Amino acid sequence: MSKKIFIPIILSICYCCNSQKKTINKPSNIIEKTQFKIEKSEEQWKKDLTAMEFYILRQAGTERAFSGKYDKHFKPGLYVCSACDNPLYDSKFKYDSKSGWPSFDRGINNNIILDIDYNLGYPRTELKCKSCGGHLGHLFNDGPKNTTGNRHCVNSVALKFIPKKNEL
Ligand SMILES: [Zn+2]
Repeated sequence: MSKKIFIPIILSICYCCNSQKKTINKPSNIIEKTQFKIEKSEEQWKKDLTAMEFYILRQAGTERAFSGKYDKHFKPGLYVCSACDNPLYDSKFKYDSKSGWPSFDRGINNNIILDIDYNLGYPRTELKCKSCGGHLGHLFNDGPKNTTGNRHCVNSVALKFIPKKNEL
């Protein structure tokens, strides 16, 4: 084989290698930035929420254990998002986890989304309101074994309780 023929073959092989598109598989736990039904600027949220609500819902803060108003609250009704009134938890899903935070073994279908946060240096499953993106708390797998096995550990500040009509 003469050099004249050999070189174009080498070049065309290299060209093929480079032109092949590399497909990068995204890790499945990375969630795309979601568009929420209720979108506000952080400045607007600051105006609409109390300082504590802003800290929990918008800055993913955590209220002190045993300090929340719904920790030992077991009346029948509905817990909605304190920022946007999206129904999040039915009182029948609530149980006493003795963790110091309101705990539910499940949420209301499709009204809560899961995200991953690394705020403590390791991944935790974060619970967010699907409607406004507000931070609710975290999901753990040490819930009641006789039901879902899940524990939705939620800040009272992120919730607003609506009693059942006959309880008003
Ligand atoms: Zn909300």
